[in-house]
Amino acid sequence: MKILTKSFWTKFFIQTSQRFSPVFLSVVLLMLVLVYFFVYFTGGTQNAYLHAMYIPIVFISAVYGIKGGLVIGVIAGLLLGPIMPHDTTTIVMQDTINWVYRMLYFMGVGALVGFILDRVRYQFETIHELYTHATETGIPNYQMYLSKFDEHESDSADVSLTMLINNYEDIVVLIGREQYAELLKKIYAALIEVLDGAEIYQVDTRKLWIELSQKSFKNNYVKMLQRFEDETFVINDVPLYVDIAIGVYIGRTEDFSRLDAFRASEIAALHAKKNMLKYSIYQSDFSYPHHHLERLGSLPMAIKNKELYLLYHPIVDLKTDQVVAFEALIRWKKDGEVINPLEFIPLAEETKLIDSITEWIVKEVIADYPKLTSKNDVMININVSQRNLYNPSLIERIIELIKEENYKDKTIGIEMTESTVMLNLNLTRTLLTTLKEAGIPMAIDDFGTGYSTLSCLSELPIDRLKIDCDFVMRMFQDKGTESLVKMIINYAHELDIEVVAEGIETERLEKALKNLGCDFGQGFYYAKPLPIDEAKAFMIAYNNKKKS
Ligand code: C2E
Ligand code: MG
Ligand code: MG
Repeated sequence: MKILTKSFWTKFFIQTSQRFSPVFLSVVLLMLVLVYFFVYFTGGTQNAYLHAMYIPIVFISAVYGIKGGLVIGVIAGLLLGPIMPHDTTTIVMQDTINWVYRMLYFMGVGALVGFILDRVRYQFETIHELYTHATETGIPNYQMYLSKFDEHESDSADVSLTMLINNYEDIVVLIGREQYAELLKKIYAALIEVLDGAEIYQVDTRKLWIELSQKSFKNNYVKMLQRFEDETFVINDVPLYVDIAIGVYIGRTEDFSRLDAFRASEIAALHAKKNMLKYSIYQSDFSYPHHHLERLGSLPMAIKNKELYLLYHPIVDLKTDQVVAFEALIRWKKDGEVINPLEFIPLAEETKLIDSITEWIVKEVIADYPKLTSKNDVMININVSQRNLYNPSLIERIIELIKEENYKDKTIGIEMTESTVMLNLNLTRTLLTTLKEAGIPMAIDDFGTGYSTLSCLSELPIDRLKIDCDFVMRMFQDKGTESLVKMIINYAHELDIEVVAEGIETERLEKALKNLGCDFGQGFYYAKPLPIDEAKAFMIAYNNKKKS
């Protein structure tokens, strides 16, 4: 999918749909003339050479659709019609019925090719639109930015801005995701209005990237800040307070690409947010790497100091309404503050620390398991990182630890993200087979966010796939996502793979997923991740309630 926006076919379908090209028309005109002379000098319409006329007909109708197909059909019919002899040596002309019939044939073929290609083009444009625009808002997205990357590398739009919506969570809690999308559309419209000639991209739900010229930036920047200061964005009659932070990077040098410029503006925006400023201009001493290092440095001690702990997130069997499994999720409590895994696992993954952390998690889960049940009737899933796969001795160690305690076969399982699996398919296939042979159930995590793995599913020895939170949450916002979820479930079932839907936050979502035949559900609708004792209490209470 990555290369979709740059592929030949995308260019062909999207660009030819804009249609008028004098060069193309001249080439086709030349073809018509050549075919005319070709037919003439090979003896007239009595010979089969006249079928060469289908070449320009197909070309024109492919590009100009049904109407183009009909027009070229008439032109081609007339060229090989009253003015073209049946036999050029004896100059015997054709019967009218003969060329009229042929002309109708040409028109029919032109219209048919035009019709088919118009349908294909429509499908292509729809896919392209979905791929290059944020689904909920229709604002050009990161893929669109990438597709224009080369075009703009040297143009004059050399100011990069990142706009963060700081109070995104609060707004979503207040008005819901659908209305939040409406708000983003209003913000987008306001920016387009204020910032002359700016290009704006929605990079994620709370972040916009804006690119504009220095002139436009100088003329309009203050106006933009004022607009956000003065204007209250009203959604469903509710005036909302939108707290923004803007990061600015000005100018571009040879060793600083457009993408680098946006990264710098992101760092500046984070700086603004952290210091409660409305905006901040990038300075080279915004030392985020240093900040990362500090955090990384204290991570080894975190294990020793018992600052890491696990929470367990229940997974419910959607057919029996019983909690049948948990996912172990790590947390780090540092100086009284709980740090989310997304803030330190990616850092740890850049180092060998991730192996120690994963080994610690396996041991911790094994120790916690008897606190949950004494009957080996519940499964606990552990998240394994991509980097862990490059350490075969760690994989052996995990197998050994699980086997030692006899926790194999549906008691302790492993989750691996889709992008991890796809990164090195051959390696992961071998490792997955090793784990499978050791009796450890395998799940692909965050399915739907990475590269398209559907085609590879049949080759992988996996037991479950987990559809990503974002995907599941979007189900009610667009039909396309719902169809995709349905297709994933059906396809997985055909391969005897069970499906877990992550991110179930409402009863309505649970019901919809049950209707689609999804096997398991996980999400805040059931519970937030819990400490082991609370997880056990929750499971007992939930299961009893549902049984009665
Ligand atoms: P994941 O493995 O996909 O875990 C699911 C994440 O989605 C968890 O976030 C969970 O709290 C969240 N989630 C589940 N249901 C809902 C819902 O209904 N609504 C919302 N908004 N969120 C929901 P968490 O615990 O913050 O973990 C984030 C990611 O960090 C995990 O995604 C996983 O990739 C990584 N992670 C967490 N623990 C570990 C770990 O022990 N080892 C490794 N390697 N990675 C971990
Ligand atoms: Mg997971
Ligand atoms: Mg997940």
